[in-house]
Formats: sequence, C-alpha cells, structure tokens
Amino acid sequence: MPVKIALVTGGTRGIGKAIVSRFIKDGFHVVFTGRTEESVSRAQDDFTGNANGIPCNVADPAAVKTLFEQIVKDHGTLDVLVNNAGITRDGLLLRMKADQWDEVVNTNLRGAFLCCQAAVRLMMKNEGGGRIINISSVIGLIGNGGQANYSAAKAGLIGLTKSVAKEFGSRNILVNAVAPGFIETDMTAGLGEDMRKQLLDGIPLSRFGKPEDVAGVCSFLAGPDAGYITGQVLTVDGGMVM
Ligand code: NDP
Repeated sequence: MPVKIALVTGGTRGIGKAIVSRFIKDGFHVVFTGRTEESVSRAQDDFTGNANGIPCNVADPAAVKTLFEQIVKDHGTLDVLVNNAGITRDGLLLRMKADQWDEVVNTNLRGAFLCCQAAVRLMMKNEGGGRIINISSVIGLIGNGGQANYSAAKAGLIGLTKSVAKEFGSRNILVNAVAPGFIETDMTAGLGEDMRKQLLDGIPLSRFGKPEDVAGVCSFLAGPDAGYITGQVLTVDGGMVM
C-alpha cells in the first residue's frame, strides 16, 4: 500500500503541530505549513518521522498554488487536508478595523477555501477519494463578544464544510469540521486568570483541552472508521457547549 499523504496547514505550533505528530504516528507522510521559513524549520527539527514543512501564507492564492504544485511534484497526490491555520485579532465591533476583519477572515476562511479547492482537484483523481477536516471553533457555533471577525470566519467554515461535503460526496471526498473549545496553546496563553477561572467553571470535564485531544479526533476523521461520516461538526470542548 502506498503511504498516504496529508497536508496540515499551520502545523508549526499548537493544535496543528499535535495533528502532524499524530498523523506521522498513524503512518501518513505529512506536509505542513507555517508562514515563515524560520517557524517551519524550527518545527521540522521537532518532528521525527515522515514530515516536511513548506512555508506558505494560506491567505495568499499564489502561495497556495505554489504549495500544491510542490505537493504534486513531490508526492503526486493528496489524501487528507486539515485546514488548521488560524489567527485571532480580537476587538469590540464598534472599534474593529476593516483590516482586523480581513486578516482574520482571510486566514481562517479564505485560506481554507483556497486549500479545499486545490485539494479536491487532486482528491477527485484518487480511487479512494479523500478527507478534508476544517478546524472551526465553538465560537463559530455560539459567537463571542469581541470576536465578531473570528466567529464569522469559524461559522463560515461550517458552511464551507457542509457545502463541499454535498458537492463532493459522490466522489467519496468526506468533509467534516472540528470545533474545539478552550485548548491550551499560544492562541489562548494570553488570557487572564479571572477569565480562565470563569471559563473553567463552564466546562463539565473541569479541565482545558490539550492539542492532543483535537489531534485524536482528526486522526479518527482521517481514518477508516470514519468512512460514513461527512458534513458534520464534531465539538471537542469537554462539554462546554451542549
Ligand atoms: P496557534 O496560534 O498556536 O498556531 C497557529 C498556527 O497557524 C501556527 O502554526 C501558525 O504558523 C499558523 N498560521 C497562522 N496564520 C497563518 C497563515 N496565514 N498561513 C499559514 N499558517 C498560518 O493556534 P492554535 O493551535 O491554538 O489554533 C489552531 C487552530 O485551531 C486555529 O484555526 C484556531 O482558530 C483553532 N482553534 C483554537 C482553539 C484554542 O483554544 N486554541 C479553540 C478553537 C479553535 P506560523 O506562526 O508558523 O506562521
């Protein structure tokens, strides 16, 4: 059996990095991205096994085109795509600048659209189809004051997931979203103690999530046991939103 190829965007840190490590263990060859040569090569040093990093700003169509050309050149195909690259630029609506909106929507949503489009072109040629996993957020389900840009992008990812799932179901390309709750990464490291305590009180499992909690669910969605699941949103939040 040829080794399956997975692409994880934003695989240099946090949740993406845990997904890369898990997929390597699962037997994939993993291509991962970050924005800079430096962040990519730093992460590359930490991975032992089948992974190679390519710098790529997912919000930039030319960069995504080059990324996929490289994947075709190196591997000829793609079996799994995880759209994980994401950023926050929080602010109350009345103070939010259009740039703040664009940056978040372009990275989280436009980046996923560009990668989905390029990925399905390759996956359609695969006998076994493919899997796409979009990393959304519970904030895309319930909204959050100060995060109108982020929640709109994450809710948009859920619409994208369901539409692509419907368009490509007949080609056996399965598309699902994962909606993490509060996961301990650089993205959430800046939250104050009061806010952390308040959030923790609302989590039935009484702990914040680890990147590995999300990676395990991605492993399932990319694997053989998830062959009849498409267009779904799997919440990984310790019961925070139900
Ligand atoms: P981190 O901030 O720890 O890591 C973000 C990753 O995204 C980095 O690898 C970064 O790469 C990459 N990235 C950012 N912008 C771009 C871009 N334009 N092009 C390519 N790569 C980019 O975030 P998390 O690990 O916490 O989050 C990962 C995903 O999970 C995000 O989509 C986030 O919205 C989502 N999420 C996170 C939650 C949490 O509580 N942490 C909760 C719910 C969802 P580099 O810095 O090397 O450029």
